[in-house]
Amino acid sequence: MKTSLLFPDGKEKALTLSYDDGVDTDRQFIKLLEKYNVKSTFNINAGSFSPEGSVRPEGQIHFRLSESEVKALYNHPLCEVATHSFTHPWLDKQPTAQCMIEIIKDRQALEKLFGKIVRGHAYPYGTYNDDVVEILRKAGIVYARTVESHYSFKIPTDWLRMGTTCHHPESCLLELADKFIDGEVGNNDGWLFYLWGHTYEFRMDNNWEVIEKFFEKTARNDNVWYATNIEVYDYVTAYRSLVYSADGDMVYNPTSTDVWVKIDGKKISVPAGKTVNI
Ligand SMILES: [Zn+2]
Repeated sequence: MKTSLLFPDGKEKALTLSYDDGVDTDRQFIKLLEKYNVKSTFNINAGSFSPEGSVRPEGQIHFRLSESEVKALYNHPLCEVATHSFTHPWLDKQPTAQCMIEIIKDRQALEKLFGKIVRGHAYPYGTYNDDVVEILRKAGIVYARTVESHYSFKIPTDWLRMGTTCHHPESCLLELADKFIDGEVGNNDGWLFYLWGHTYEFRMDNNWEVIEKFFEKTARNDNVWYATNIEVYDYVTAYRSLVYSADGDMVYNPTSTDVWVKIDGKKISVPAGKTVNI
């Protein structure tokens, strides 16, 4: 028998986004998320907020939101908030204690601000090493995004060194979007399109139409699950927890998440806590 991953409701594909720094252009981006009903994770530096009441200086491209603006903006059903370190240093260049403080302080501050448990991370500048990964793990972070593109739709296995499908300014973006929507998954694991970037890049490059074109292609598709990063992590972790009988005629879902699996081409729903005959 061949088992492969399906997303919630038996969907074969999932789209997730990851945008960094908590900048003012995220406002316009979230309006687009609302228009297309797509979800995104936002990676925030809680030690680098703009002072309350500050106004973007003319010509400045990268402009961070204040604490109250962050709280108001990302407390939103289409958004997940994740850590990005407290003050955005190169984590791999920090002495160990400083690195620990950067991660823990950011997690603590964001949890306090939003009243939610925060478990995600994106590496500032994309840099990391094995020590940073270990600190994240011990700090309760379950996934961490790099800035590496793999140009594929594979499901992550090493969640603390997670690659991405691509960065939105890359010229292959729309071609990948077509491939993602038009391609056949067959009896393989479901596909994940993982897009990342900074929304100030749309201001810098004056190209908001790129992300609109991307959403035109990928949004509102019945075979695609639109999820935040942590929703993808939690779902895939539940899927990987399925327990099969020795001769493969039963499957048990020990988690609290309903899971879907494709077995020899047939879609099977395995509700939370239930055993299903295959
Ligand atoms: Zn950043």
